Amino acid sequence: MTDILISEVGPRDGLQAIDRVMPLDAKKAWIAAEAAAGVQEIEVGSFVPAKLLPQMADTPALVEFAKGIEGLNVVTLIPNIKGAEFAAKAGVHGMSIPFSMSESHSLKNVRKDHPAMLEQIAGCAEIAKANDIHFAVGLSTAFGCTIEGAVDPVAVARLAEASAKRGAQEFSLSDTTGYADPAQVRRLIRTVREAVGDMLTTLHMHNTRGLGLANVVAGLEEGITTFDSSLGGLGGCPYAPGASGNIVTEDLVLMLNSMGLNTGIDLEKLLAVRPILEQALPGEPLYGFTPDAGPMLDYKERIAA
Ligand code: ZN
Repeated sequence: MTDILISEVGPRDGLQAIDRVMPLDAKKAWIAAEAAAGVQEIEVGSFVPAKLLPQMADTPALVEFAKGIEGLNVVTLIPNIKGAEFAAKAGVHGMSIPFSMSESHSLKNVRKDHPAMLEQIAGCAEIAKANDIHFAVGLSTAFGCTIEGAVDPVAVARLAEASAKRGAQEFSLSDTTGYADPAQVRRLIRTVREAVGDMLTTLHMHNTRGLGLANVVAGLEEGITTFDSSLGGLGGCPYAPGASGNIVTEDLVLMLNSMGLNTGIDLEKLLAVRPILEQALPGEPLYGFTPDAGPMLDYKERIAA
């Protein structure tokens, strides 16, 4: 049994942050190799218009491919009801919509205020229910916003509650901007749990300021069981050169396995996936410490039996 679910989001969050388009065959090889290393959930893409994000244009083909991998939970991001329709048509297992807790960020990115987003969430939930798709809401910019600065935790809890009333089944707290610190992670989890309880399962942390794994430990101590991460921290951060994007899957797996938590992921096999990215995107910065340093000498004695 897996204690902690690691959801690989590199094929979506990582690739959408870089301009180059990874060839479909390389994406397939990446997804297959990670699944073979024991990764049980992969966000393979996003159902956004191809003219906005050509990097994601092959998402339907990737969903079809990934569904052929036994035991893999295939999830995608959807921006709105239209995206949910496409995701349902493609036959995803799960889909999640980002809901920006900062209203100015939401208006700037998707030109929708909070009431308009809640309408979208209700519509997506209906499609999810009709098609037996698991529907999650990502509470993005939950830890702070590059436009508004601080985001009120009580407002986050209220918006989560409103989303649950409209059919959301699960929540993640997303540190889109890399603003979170571990004390804040603890506080926000508690506040949001008061509103939606165990429906809050997931943290989506970025490592913009190097606090990603510290934030994960704070989440673990509050009972979070799912963490999003990206192989090689792919994607970087356009606002902070030299900073990785999502937390690095290799480092996250090393840490959790070494702590004796069962992720179901074989670190050696996971480390062998990285060359697929290096070859498909030559020169693209990849991050992480474990790929260079390797595991500790007594790593095998530390991991769960
Ligand atoms: Zn992200």
